[in-house]
This record gives sequence, structure tokens and C-alpha cells, in this order.
Amino acid sequence: MLRSRAMLNPLRRGALIVALGLLLRPDAAFAQAQPAAAPAPSRTRAHVDTLASPKLEGRLTGSPGADAAAAYIEAELKRIGARPLPGGFGFRVPFTFTAGVKDEGTSIALVPVDATDKGQVWLDSSEVGALSFSETGEVTAPVVFAGYGLRVPAENGGGFVYDSYAGLDVKDKIVLVLRYVPEKVEREQREQMVRYSALRFKALAARQAGAKAILVVTGPTSAGSGQVIPLSFDTASAGSGIVAATVGGSVADALFTASGKSIREAQEALDGGNPHVAGFPLGTRQIRVNAKLRRETATTDNVAGYLPATRDVSGVAKPWVMLGAHYDHLGHGGRGSSLARAGEVNLVHPGADDNASGVAAVLAAAERLKNGPRGRNVAFVLWSGEEAGLLGSSAFTAKPPLPLDQIAAYFNFDMVGRLKDNALQVQGAGSSPAWSALATSANSDPTLKIAVQNDPNLPTDSSSFNQAGVPTLSFFTGSHEDYHRPTDTADRVDTDGIDRVVRYATTIVSRVADAAEPPAFAKVEPQTRGRGARDGIRLYTGTIPDYASETKGLLLGGVSAGGPAEQAGLMKGDIIVEIAGQSIANVYDYTYALDLMKADEPVKVLYLRNSEKRETTLTPRARR
Ligand SMILES: [Zn+2]
Repeated sequence: MLRSRAMLNPLRRGALIVALGLLLRPDAAFAQAQPAAAPAPSRTRAHVDTLASPKLEGRLTGSPGADAAAAYIEAELKRIGARPLPGGFGFRVPFTFTAGVKDEGTSIALVPVDATDKGQVWLDSSEVGALSFSETGEVTAPVVFAGYGLRVPAENGGGFVYDSYAGLDVKDKIVLVLRYVPEKVEREQREQMVRYSALRFKALAARQAGAKAILVVTGPTSAGSGQVIPLSFDTASAGSGIVAATVGGSVADALFTASGKSIREAQEALDGGNPHVAGFPLGTRQIRVNAKLRRETATTDNVAGYLPATRDVSGVAKPWVMLGAHYDHLGHGGRGSSLARAGEVNLVHPGADDNASGVAAVLAAAERLKNGPRGRNVAFVLWSGEEAGLLGSSAFTAKPPLPLDQIAAYFNFDMVGRLKDNALQVQGAGSSPAWSALATSANSDPTLKIAVQNDPNLPTDSSSFNQAGVPTLSFFTGSHEDYHRPTDTADRVDTDGIDRVVRYATTIVSRVADAAEPPAFAKVEPQTRGRGARDGIRLYTGTIPDYASETKGLLLGGVSAGGPAEQAGLMKGDIIVEIAGQSIANVYDYTYALDLMKADEPVKVLYLRNSEKRETTLTPRARR
């Protein structure tokens, strides 16, 4: 499971729209078949032990350990008797991804104005670096200061409510812009601006205004003033069509010299958010920016197979159902989504629950379904690249080996290895009006408690199918303190629990496979306030959210030692319901609220401890 929904593709905003497709009454439509029992001894324990073995080193996408996992899965699909998907692939369906970016010496220099001028002056190379989405290449042009480099479109379309490029000629120029948004704007304006403040958006705005390159500096009045932005690996690091670099404070000062103004004055004039404060050229001297960025692409495989229908499906609407689980995990925990604690850093993250358990479930489901009648073709796809941003499932739905409009439903298994208190979460039920009744009626296990949840916009591969208009259901046994840590080991996985989940899930799969009509799709827009990717979170509060919690509010899985949350007296188990005047329903509201806060300014926090409402004051710090 992905750690943050911010890594998902930006999802569109809007209201809940229920598709008006004709729907048979679920009881009538899906009531028939049970999968034939296949009481062969369960291989679930062996699947989990093999995939979560330390030998596979955490199955990082593109690593030999992940490839060994793929080989194991392929062998199991063959043993079960699955066939490769149509479309000319074998059991491996490859896709390429950006495996890394490397700055190989990006530089910046002042070019002589005329013969009387001194020669080219190189500026401090430690004060310049390419941004991960920069084009590679050299640009020589004068520099124009373009304020915060922000373009905020009007809510109802038609023009911009704030446009750093209004009336500013940057055609064929290099623009220098400030990071973040004006520091002193009122909350409402800040909310609007933050949505368009991601560095990628700023690069796009500069390119659309005609600039040849963009330089970003963290201004004197902002947190982290003057610091060069580290080269972050982001999974969407395809080029932005413009040379883009970060510069430090001394370089920005050098560029400002010819203007006779200071960058601090310029920033202070902008910080109130007055849209009429304009940028200005920084003299006529040419600047040379040479961005040297190497993007390493690599290939990895989804592993897929299918069991054909046992009846003629030529007249059947949407003759496929699909089950999936990601087999990749975090390797040794790099790339930022590890939650390893002190003493655990760089250890193998075995990913037994996340998501050897889901792969084991899909293989066990295939085993169960192979002997029964199948009213539709049943595909099994094990994804790579999930932890890096749903890469495998996104590649699959972008170039589907089988047409997406032929898939009646997609069933996802991500973290099904910790069946605590007999409670199974069935998520995404809002994606079809058929799901809720079916999810309940399919349960013949008297001790299994099914919690049906509607939102299909989940931080796992089902989101790729939801965006493609395919009804989805996701099975999930809940988060735990070993999530994304080296302690997510095979011995902590309940494989009997996985088998119970599989018995239940295959009942649903068989009923959908055998139904005359496929379930109708219903679109559920994300319930969080829509926004694009942001330029990171600037503030540090030292909270460790329980990401999978369904509690209303932000349930703390812990607090960082010595961090602001601990200093505010917060502790594990507390539920934050309001911070800085923002009510908090979930972790996304919380990250959103962080955008509105400022470093070193205390804010009021309302929280629940043992159902008792309490209040404290927390002082966020600038994140470094
Ligand atoms: Zn995960």
C-alpha cells in the first residue's frame, strides 16, 4: 500500500455521481454459484514465507529480489494452469519506469556583457542544481525576476486571479522565481495559491509564458531561506519541457546585483499577495545555465495470467473479471516512504503483510477458482511499482493488454495478512451500486465481520482501475505498527486469516463472473479537497499518523521523540480533530492544514484522548 495519497495521479474534483446504468437487483443477479471447494492443502504460508524472505531483500521495483519474486509468481501461475493474457505477452508484461535521476554537474555562469567586461564568471556550483523534471541542456539569456512564478486560475475559468507573468515579458528569457507562495497572504488566498505552487506547476507556467529556463530560489522571508532544493526522486520525473534548476541565496544575490534591488525587498513587496506587484528584469547581462541531468530508466514486469471461462463468453457483456495484488515493496526502505525507526534504517523491509499477503491471496484464489465453473475469464495480475506510485497498474490501464471496457470488475488485495478480531475491510463499495449488498450476502463465515467502505480512491492499485471506470473492490485487514517497517515480517502474518479472506472474496468473484449483467460503474470523486501535487510539506510537527485508520480525525500511531507533537503533550492513540482552526477528518485534511500554518507560530490543537476532548498548543518547525 502506498504511504501517501499525494503520490497518486491528481484526481479530479466534483460531486458524487452515480452511474445510471441498468442494474439488476443484486440478490437476483449475483446469487447463484459458489466456487467449487478445492480442499488441497493451503500453500499460503509457503507463498508468504518465500516472498517475504530476507533473500528477496524487500522486493524493490527493478531489483533482483523483485525479479526473483516475479519468477516465483510466474512459476505458481503456470503450476495452477493459468495461461498468459492474450495480446502476445508471456506471463511477464513489461513496462518502463524512471529508476533514478542524477545531477551530473549542473552549472550557472555570468556571461560578459561587452569587451570591457570581465570574462565569464562561474557561480558557486554547490549553490545550483537541476530539478528532477528539468530538460537537459544549455540556455543563455538575460534573467527576469518573476516573483513567485505563480499562476492561479479563476475558479470559474477565464483568466487568472493571480498571475506572476501578467504584463511581464519573459519570452526567451531565464526567469528567477521564489519558492512557495507569498508568505503573508490570508488563509483563503493561501489555499488557492498552494494548489498551484508545486515546482512542476511553476515550471509549466514559465514555459507557457515563453521562458527558456526557470531558476527557483527559497527567498529570505521563507522557511529554509537560501537553501538549494535537494534533487528529489519523483516518480513522474519525465521532462517538463524547460530547463529547471534551483539556486542558493548567494547565486540569487549575484543575479540581483544589476537590478539595484535586493531580493529581500522584492520578496517583501510580494508577500502581501497584491496581484499588481510585478516582477522586473535583472539587467541585460546574459546568464548561462547548463542543466546536466541523467534520467535512468529501467524495465520491470507485471506478472499476469488467466483462467478461461468454462462456458462460451462470446455473447457475455464484459467477459473478464480481474484479481490483483502488488508484489513489490520498499527494498531497504529508500525513497522516502519507509517508516523505519531509529536502529531500523536501511534494514530489509520484508513487506510480508504489504504485500506478500495479497500476492498469496491472489494465488490462493486462482487455486480455488481453477476447478470451479467460471462464467467469465478470470485474470490474475501481480503488480510491480506500486510503492513507487502505482506504476505497474497505471502502465497496465494506460496500455491495457485487454480492453478495459471488457473487464466487469477488478478485485484488489493489499495487506490482507493481519486479520485482527475477525474484521475485514471491503473498500471501494461506492464504485458500483451492486457492491454493498453483494459484499454482505457473500459472507458465509459466521465469525467474519465485514466492514464495507465506500471510497474507491485508495492508495493502492485499485485506484488505477477506478480512474479507468472499472468497478473495484479492495480487501484490507487494516494497518498496524509494523507498516512500512523492517518488522513487517512473515511470522507476523496470519495465513489462516488470508485463506478466510480468499474464501470470502472468491465467492464474490464467482458471483460476478457468473452474473448475466456486469456490475454498473459508479463514479465517486475523492472526498478530500482537490489539489495537485504540492511542493512538499514545509512544516514538521512530529506526528506519526496511522495512515490506514478509519477513525474520524487524525489518529496518531505515535509521535517523534523531541518533536513538536511530543512537546505539545500528544501521544500515540490521540485523535487530532482540529488544528489551527481547521477541522480534521483524515490524514489528507491534516496535510492540507499544514499548508496553512507557519513555522514557529503556535497553533491550537483539539484532540481526543480516551474519548475526552482536550486542547493543547503545538508549535510547528520548518522542515529541513
Ligand atoms: Zn506499502
